[in-house]
Amino acid sequence: MFALVIWLSLRPAVVEGPVRRVLPEVDLDWRCDAGHAWRARGQIEPRVCMTKDCDRDMWPAARWSCENHHKFHVATRLELDASGFPGPVEFRLRGHKWVVAGDPLVCPKCSKFLREDVRDPLADVKRRKRRSAPPPKRGG
Ligand SMILES: [Zn+2]
Ligand SMILES: [Zn+2]
Repeated sequence: MFALVIWLSLRPAVVEGPVRRVLPEVDLDWRCDAGHAWRARGQIEPRVCMTKDCDRDMWPAARWSCENHHKFHVATRLELDASGFPGPVEFRLRGHKWVVAGDPLVCPKCSKFLREDVRDPLADVKRRKRRSAPPPKRGG
């Protein structure tokens, strides 16, 4: 898995048309501060949690990790850049303040800098878009 992440991050970025148009067509991993997780359509604005009796905001979840501790799901605020591409502009650990993308996030348990495992919740989407053809059907 680690090698895969390295490999993906070393690949040159291929831009294939505005992802903005793709955003409403894809499912992202959304989480609220209560820890509820939902797969839901991508959008720039936060969603309201779909769990019954929970109306917290949900944000696309990025994954960061501490070398001493486990992985953290980090809320991500997306924004469109000048060319209309969505990307993360702020991150927030549950119960903490928003941090501008590019500034370090620190582990709430040991204060070490966290490492971004998956910085951009749209990374999967962009990868999928790069695939030239859908996988062949099996057993049909
Ligand atoms: Zn919730
Ligand atoms: Zn830690």
